[in-house]
Formats: sequence, C-alpha cells, structure tokens
Amino acid sequence: MTKPVSIGVLALQGDCAAHAKAFGALGCDVREIRRPAEIAESDGLVIPGGETTTLIKLLRAEGFWDVLIRAPGTGRPIFGTCAGLILLAKKVVDPVQESLGLLPVVVRRNAYGRQVDSFVVPGQVRMPGGGELKETEFVFIRAPRIDAVGPSVEVLARHEDAPVLVRSGWVLGASFHPELTTDGIVAGLFVALVEEAREVRPGGNGGNR
Ligand code: GLN
Repeated sequence: MTKPVSIGVLALQGDCAAHAKAFGALGCDVREIRRPAEIAESDGLVIPGGETTTLIKLLRAEGFWDVLIRAPGTGRPIFGTCAGLILLAKKVVDPVQESLGLLPVVVRRNAYGRQVDSFVVPGQVRMPGGGELKETEFVFIRAPRIDAVGPSVEVLARHEDAPVLVRSGWVLGASFHPELTTDGIVAGLFVALVEEAREVRPGGNGGNR
C-alpha cells in the first residue's frame, strides 16, 4: 500500500491549524514546519495566509528563503494561500515587495480588502490539466488580486474575471482561503499534485525513502 503523502504546513505565523485539519481529513500525514530542514521530510508544503510583511522577516531570519525557492525543483510542490500566494508571486505591487518568485503572476496586495474586509462567494474549480469542474466556495480575507499571469500558468478558478486559483508546474496559489471551506476540494487537488510529484521525484516513489 502507498504511504500517505506528508504535507508540511509552514507554522511561523498565520492560520496553519485550519490547513492541518483540512489535509488531516484527507488522510495526509501533516507536519508543522518550524525549521528549514523539516521541508525535506515533507512531500509537499503549504504556506498559509497571514501577513506577508511579518512572514518575509521571519522567513529571512529563520533561514527559509533559499530552501523554499529550491523546494519545487526537488519535486516538492508548494501551495500558497492568500499571504502565501503573495510570497510565491514573481511580482508584488501595491506596495512593491520582495517575494520568492516561484509563480509567474503579478499580485496586488489587499486589492479585495479595501471594499470589504472579508466575504464568501460560491465558485467553481477546474481540476488541473483541463479536468472536472467542481463546485466550492471562495473565502476572501483582505485578499490579493492576481493582475496578470505568465504563459505557463493554468488558471483553475476565477472570481469576477480575475484568476483566484492558479498553477504553474509544482506551484499552486490561491488568493482565497480554501482551508476555511469544509469540502476539501482544493486541498484534494493539491494532494493529487503532491502524489504526482512524489512519483517522479528521485527516491520519492510512494514513500520508499
Ligand atoms: N493582506 C495580507 C498581506 O498582504 C494577506 C491576507 C491574508 O493572508 N489573509 O500580507
């Protein structure tokens, strides 16, 4: 039997508990990541929402920055939600801010938050590779807006024309908070990516490491 995928949830700041619960409900082996070396023990990594200005300082101070940049290249997918998406983006505006540059998108911070601090809307998510369309809901909390996407980016969901769930290679980003929705649809989509990456990762075949 294949070993369950291990999902590391970055636990420096932000809502890691909700992510841990969502992936735990799917049978994943969930670990909270507090040190860069723990990333290599996980098959995939989640960067939760929070406050990017604080997260950037913590990632730098704890030595996470370069380890995170290398993670997708070692076959460990990364999923960033809200602040996590901002950190993954190639370019951040309003204000301009440094980022890991792993996802070829331009994001505008707090673009939804100026009108209303948070809101929930029904939405649909396309499974990667032009797969099935699934009904879910999008919870936005002072969310960034994805203003532009590069050619390698697959848009998996939109809200009012703006992409809200995007994937490029082993990197997935959501401007909303799927961990606050109980259907597990987006978490399941990420687990499928992590399983796929583990299959092709040297030494990663189903957990026989
Ligand atoms: N507004 C936050 C930022 O710009 C992100 C908000 C969130 O993660 N819920 O860092």
